[in-house]
Amino acid sequence: MNEQIPELREPLLQTDRVPLIAGNWKMNLDHLQAIALVQKLSWALKDARHDYGETEVAVFPPFTDLRSVQTLLAADKLSLVLGAQDVSPHESGAYTGDISAAMLAKLEARYVLVGHSERRHGHGESDELVGQKALAAHRAGLVPMICVGETAEDLEEHGAAAIPLAQLAAAVSSLPKDAEFVIAYEPVWAIGSGQAATPEQAEEVAKAIRESLRDLCGDERAAATRILYGGSVASQNVAGFLRQPNVDGALVGGASLKSDEFAKIVQFKKHVTGA
Ligand code: PEP
Repeated sequence: MNEQIPELREPLLQTDRVPLIAGNWKMNLDHLQAIALVQKLSWALKDARHDYGETEVAVFPPFTDLRSVQTLLAADKLSLVLGAQDVSPHESGAYTGDISAAMLAKLEARYVLVGHSERRHGHGESDELVGQKALAAHRAGLVPMICVGETAEDLEEHGAAAIPLAQLAAAVSSLPKDAEFVIAYEPVWAIGSGQAATPEQAEEVAKAIRESLRDLCGDERAAATRILYGGSVASQNVAGFLRQPNVDGALVGGASLKSDEFAKIVQFKKHVTGA
């Protein structure tokens, strides 16, 4: 007898929060490759009769691709949502190389990543700067996707939740109480390593994040905020994360660069239940 059947029949979603599957392309794909990927992804999701109202799908291309992807989404009336990978904390002015939140909003981006570990560690971004970026995004009408996560050393020294909660408090306290944001819990040791956290590990930290959000911005905002898991998510493991009551989606790096694999991840319910 298949012992998994009762588990498969469990509802995957236990809240009203719309799951969000977000693809962070990092520094990959030029604008022509970006168009090709979005076209293939949208065809794959159309073939699978994907319901975008049931699971939101966002892509986070490099800055140089945003205009091309925006034009394609608008021309083909695609329901994919656009996100950016970074934003300046400043509104405008003498900040060579920076891209403002207003520029991203003009490109119809909805989300922007702030505090990704590759920026915290590779570019020395502090909690304070992450908070300023989140605020700049909010002021321009974007939704910051605040990334938090512990390194392997943090995990050993402080346990899983301490660093993510400290990073969360620093970023959220820079925002007004009614600001919308998404949290991406990404253990640094799991990013790009092929060694994902277990669903239970992800849930433990996601639950602690939601509890902390109650103190930081009240019960209603805490209940409404989506908390994603990120770190070596693939079609084979995504459903385990989405089964957890406090995990509302996934931030996907490497696997978002393959249209078929990303489409399978988006279809997490189907490939588990066979529905
Ligand atoms: C990421 O870049 O946010 C990420 C989670 O990467 P990967 O899925 O490749 O681990």
